Amino acid sequence: MSARRLLPVVTIAAILVAPLVASEYALTILTYIGLSSIVALSLVLLTGKGGLSSFGQAAYVGIGAYISAWFTLNTALSPWQTLPLIVIVVAIGAWFGALITVRLSGHYLPLATIAFAVAMYFVFGGSDFIGGMTGLSDLPRLTIFGFELHTAAHSYLLVWIVLLAFMWGVRNILDSRVGRAIRALRGGVLMAESMGVDTIKAKVQIFVIACVMAAITGWLYAHFQRFVSPAAFSLNQGIEYLFMAVIGGAASIWGAIVGAGLITSLKQVLQDTLPALIGTTGNFETVAFGVIIIVLFHVAPEGLVAAVQRKLGWTALPGRLRPPDAALPTRERAAPGAAMLEVAGATKAFGGVVANHDIGLTLHAGEILALIGPNGAGKSTFFNLVTGVVPADAGTFAFHGTAVAHLAPRTVAALGVGRTFQHVRLLPDMSAIENVAIGAHRRGRKGLFAALFRLDRDEEARLFDEARRQLERVGLGTHLWSEAGALALGQQRILEIARALALDPNVLLLDEPAAGLRYKEKQDLAALLRELRAEGLAILLVEHDMDFVMKLADRVVVMEFGETIAEGTPAEVQADARVREAYLGGAE
Ligand code: ADP
Ligand code: MG
Repeated sequence: MSARRLLPVVTIAAILVAPLVASEYALTILTYIGLSSIVALSLVLLTGKGGLSSFGQAAYVGIGAYISAWFTLNTALSPWQTLPLIVIVVAIGAWFGALITVRLSGHYLPLATIAFAVAMYFVFGGSDFIGGMTGLSDLPRLTIFGFELHTAAHSYLLVWIVLLAFMWGVRNILDSRVGRAIRALRGGVLMAESMGVDTIKAKVQIFVIACVMAAITGWLYAHFQRFVSPAAFSLNQGIEYLFMAVIGGAASIWGAIVGAGLITSLKQVLQDTLPALIGTTGNFETVAFGVIIIVLFHVAPEGLVAAVQRKLGWTALPGRLRPPDAALPTRERAAPGAAMLEVAGATKAFGGVVANHDIGLTLHAGEILALIGPNGAGKSTFFNLVTGVVPADAGTFAFHGTAVAHLAPRTVAALGVGRTFQHVRLLPDMSAIENVAIGAHRRGRKGLFAALFRLDRDEEARLFDEARRQLERVGLGTHLWSEAGALALGQQRILEIARALALDPNVLLLDEPAAGLRYKEKQDLAALLRELRAEGLAILLVEHDMDFVMKLADRVVVMEFGETIAEGTPAEVQADARVREAYLGGAE
């Protein structure tokens, strides 16, 4: 086993034997680090993977802590009975909160979480029944099968075992169909929706999971510390949790422990040593703490774990492919010649620019239709109207006989339309095969719970086998585990085609697939498209390269200034006087 694969095993072993060697003081600090690590881990999922920044995690820790504190002090409920209560209350609350806030774009979500954190702090501090600013004390200790966890080692072990379980769970979730959707949230929302992924659902899911994790931390915290007060759940603490996640490396599960460990011990050390060094008790540790954090951001902006991995040259390890028990279900192929896409009267204006005016075309199964025209003619706009990326001002759109009034990328994908993007949209730090597996998202069913407990392995094997098959088909079989961002531009374009094919489409829409490809790559692409046509796919090709188009297309539609100026076979179009003048002639 390589040092690299051994490292997590050694770390886990060290965590479990620590109580044998560490002092009580050290174990207490380590328990706090473990608690913070769980919250930081929730932010790895929410912020690092999902791109949703929250300053409100401390408030959720507080909610968990206060619910358990109040109920165990005022009712006959034991902590183990308040735990499911916390999970249910927080899950429902977070779900409602997520429905409202998760659609907020840009800075509004972080601002909403700040407002929530501030509000909750005043609720905690201003409510007499939970002790106001003094809080609640004399909370019961946790017991396990009647055994009271009364030493520092007991609490330490419980907290760290819970942390390790959460790390296992988060890792399982990320390495799944749902997890790929989550990982697409940061920068890949349009792409994911175009592959049929419900990204709002993915956002709500991680929001709920992260809040429940924070609340469970609060529960552990309350019964470990045995008293709760508002100070521990302030906005400041929420910011600190976010620091931990970001400094450790918000994209890495281990980053949570590294960040929590570093910041907790740093604060402890500064508090212990700085006043003695300087000779006064000011708030110098806060200033020093701030300076150190700023330095860390400069030294390792992507987080310490990633920085160290880069230093050591640790790139992603290739995964293992399991042979599938069966193939994925496939869509019924349309009869050759069937009308797969019928557009009439498509019109779109951007301010004064009419980018598409009354465009109509029909695309049949088993044909390649090319849409050509000079730059700015309106080809991409047409593409965006058909794929639901941009709403049309007017026009009708029917897919395989089904008229769709309100197109959206996800509905178009569900209708069996696979697409690529003029400007490549891949998840650069994900492997090629995982990127392609996103294309097959709708061909899988397994959700969050299956992923959490790894009950999705059979389906994952099928999804990955399909992704592998498509990558081999487009000629990227030797790059399965390469990071998509490390591939050459031409390969990235081809990768997008494999991803679109993984959707098992009836219709394939390609926006300038040959752009940036070398001669040989173009020839391979043409051969692939001919093969797909022979299989009965309907292919709409928006392309700039005339030579490529004329040899390949069955029919050509020519656009200029947002209008169709000619339509016919390549020979007819090339002979058209208006086309020659407006487009071909101009290029010569
Ligand atoms: P093509 O793909 O044929 O090069 P486009 O469809 O990208 O052409 O653009 C057609 C026209 O519409 C251009 O004048 C372009 O500037 C304009 N346009 C396209 N998208 C937008 C947009 N989102 N906002 C404003 N103008 C746009
Ligand atoms: Mg374009």
